[in-house]
Amino acid sequence: MSRDRDRDRDRDRDRADALDAADPLAPFRDRFLPAPGVVAYLDGNSLGRPPAVTAERLDAFVREEWAGRLIRGWTEPEAEGGWMRWPERVGDRIAAAALGAGPGSTVLADSTTVLLYKLVRAAVDLDASRREIVLDTDNFPTDRYVAEGIAAERGARLRWIETDPAAGITAGQVAAAVGPDTALVLLSHVAYRSGWIADAAAITAIAHDAGALVLWDLSHSVGSVELELDAWGVDLAVGCTYKYLNGGPGSPAFAYVRPGLHDRIRQPVQGWMGRHDPFEMGPGYTPAAGIRGIVSGTPPILAAVPLLAGLEMLEEAGIGAVRAKSRALTAYALDLVDAWLPGVELVSPRDPERRGGHLTIRRAGFRDVLDALWERGVIPDYREPDGIRIGLAPLSTSFREVHDGLEVLRELAGV
Ligand SMILES: *Cc1c(COP(=O)(O)O)cnc(C)c1O
Repeated sequence: MSRDRDRDRDRDRDRADALDAADPLAPFRDRFLPAPGVVAYLDGNSLGRPPAVTAERLDAFVREEWAGRLIRGWTEPEAEGGWMRWPERVGDRIAAAALGAGPGSTVLADSTTVLLYKLVRAAVDLDASRREIVLDTDNFPTDRYVAEGIAAERGARLRWIETDPAAGITAGQVAAAVGPDTALVLLSHVAYRSGWIADAAAITAIAHDAGALVLWDLSHSVGSVELELDAWGVDLAVGCTYKYLNGGPGSPAFAYVRPGLHDRIRQPVQGWMGRHDPFEMGPGYTPAAGIRGIVSGTPPILAAVPLLAGLEMLEEAGIGAVRAKSRALTAYALDLVDAWLPGVELVSPRDPERRGGHLTIRRAGFRDVLDALWERGVIPDYREPDGIRIGLAPLSTSFREVHDGLEVLRELAGV
């Protein structure tokens, strides 16, 4: 009996090792700083691991760029526009590597929450005859709270779509909710709990047919699934850079605005850095042309340094290969859950087309299991009620790590 079990165990491990051996992205994992005592990091979708070069880049930036250039850094080197142009330059790199968007449509600034505020406000103010924001009950809390605040502030209404927490928003639900009053459809592309991938192309078209704008929160998509913002005709988007882009805790967010809207929308936080000529320091505010108008205050340069190291890795790997590995990792994790954890409920899509980079599994009592997992060096996330969320960042996660983490869960869950 126990010999059989040992044989099964060896076979399972060999399978994980074989998947790693065949994985073209496997070498990227060694480029991250080690995490002592961590057996399996299953939360790279909440806070990505640091690339090893990040520590060196930060050190070099402080010594050479900050100390060496001092205030001249804002404008030098002149050809690149200095730090002053980082919002647009880093934005262009995110757009090219991860968003399927051309240059001049994306900026790095603020946090996702603040950018949501700016863009939702701008969308609601665009057409005074449209007073409704369509959103869903399972959207990320900050999105819901920001929308509630703006509705109160601007006399707008919220039209809530009830979504299935094990799946997510569908095109049919959106079609039934939009109408002549809709100013904006505000949704997450990949649901933060279930990992459901919304049909962004279809839903964007539905919003447009109703004369509304659409804003996609890409926080759980960017650097994990392929995006085609330009081709889908997306109006507005925001997202985090500290998740799959490995920008570090609290790294700045990005905003995308379709170029056709640049002259039409006006964001509410009129700061000097989004003015057409900040250094004129004159009276009155005229927004800068293009995407720069989304910027409000001094760009977060130091906080953007680690993101560049994360972006380089994504540029090198390519989002297509990242998505392919992401699918393989979630499929593998799902196999193990099915085989090892009977009675555990999957609250994520089984269909790989609709499944992003993470899975949530649920069983009564998982809250207590989570603490024990963390003690054993297995770090997933927890989502009420009773959900363990397994996030599998393709560049930093191996199949063996998934195996080892779920093996501990199997043991602790007592099955
Ligand atoms: C992580 C996340 C955020 C976080 O916003 P912050 O302003 O960085 O705290 C917002 N939206 C979604 C969908 C997220 O997953």
